Amino acid sequence: MAKRDYYEVLGVEKNASESEIKKAYRRLAMKYHPDKNKDDKIAEEKFKESSEAYEVLSDQNKRSKYDQFGHAGLEGAFGRGGFSWGDFTHAADFSDIFGSGGLGSIFESLFGGSPFGGRSRSARSNRGEDLQISLSLTLEEISKGIDKKIKITVKDTCEKCNGTGSEDGQTSTCQQCHGSGQIMRTTRSLFGQMQTVVTCPSCHGEGKIVKNRCSKCGGDGRINKSKTINVHIPAGVSEGQYIRLRGQGNTGKRGGTKGDILVLIREKEHKIFERNDADLICEFPISFSQATLGADIYVPVLSGKIKMKIPPGTQSGKVFRLKSQGLPHVNSVYHGDLYVKIIVITPTKLNSEEKELFKELRKFDSEKKLQPGKSFFNKFREFFV
Ligand SMILES: [Zn+2]
Ligand SMILES: [Zn+2]
Repeated sequence: MAKRDYYEVLGVEKNASESEIKKAYRRLAMKYHPDKNKDDKIAEEKFKESSEAYEVLSDQNKRSKYDQFGHAGLEGAFGRGGFSWGDFTHAADFSDIFGSGGLGSIFESLFGGSPFGGRSRSARSNRGEDLQISLSLTLEEISKGIDKKIKITVKDTCEKCNGTGSEDGQTSTCQQCHGSGQIMRTTRSLFGQMQTVVTCPSCHGEGKIVKNRCSKCGGDGRINKSKTINVHIPAGVSEGQYIRLRGQGNTGKRGGTKGDILVLIREKEHKIFERNDADLICEFPISFSQATLGADIYVPVLSGKIKMKIPPGTQSGKVFRLKSQGLPHVNSVYHGDLYVKIIVITPTKLNSEEKELFKELRKFDSEKKLQPGKSFFNKFREFFV
């Protein structure tokens, strides 16, 4: 069967931009996705045809060859057998198009299990590294949730070799493993000969050998690039939690898939508040007279201050609960509470007038029956274990 024109297959103009090509392919790939078209041979053919067209037109080098020479211009690029799915998996960036599942899942549903033997294994082993960054947040930021821009250096596809690692685009099948990426190793032991399957040492499991290494990336197929990523931090996160940004980490070697970025949440110590899950705890000092006579005080909350009534006769250590003045729970409308522990401050530097007044008060001490006990400590201990 004669091959159709690639532009025609994707339904785009000859001068279509990269993003138009990507968009067109995405639409077709979704339409003819094998998951949606079980046992439909025509859909499968369409899916392969559009994938092949995209593989060529998304690659600057292959596209220009195709533009000049048509299908004949690409014969070398795909090896003797013409277009091969193996080349395809290495060439294009699928996590970008299909999201985190990548094309691996599509292939698995299309062919069942391991479609390319060693090749699919090697594509998987070429997944880029996950990168971890930590992000320090104040309780104020955590209470509202925040969008942060973070600058990070990642290993990204080398443009010079288009991620192949090859100066001239030429790769050859590994001689040692014949492209499977694995070899059988025979060892002799007391129990006789043992055969084990090990990763091919020549190609490191990739099945292919780059002939002339790319001068820009040294054959790795990727180079360091700095980029700025946007991270949305939901309200209520806590120390030690991770936010995973799928497909934003390092690109794998020689056309591998992308790893993730893990954003580790760190919590900055707060001047006033201790955190206990979604609850906040703070101490608030008041004077003897405030404790005795009662007072209106303004206690701190994360968004400012709120008024709180101290009833007359408040003991030092008394804990007041202010409902819903704590942190929000993640993905919930509910908030924790704020616990305010009252500390009655014993005055240390008294002027003579104050001293006289306290002496006056002391005259009444004998009337008050002060008994030793522990009940009063237990009251607030439960909040601070
Ligand atoms: Zn390169
Ligand atoms: Zn090999």
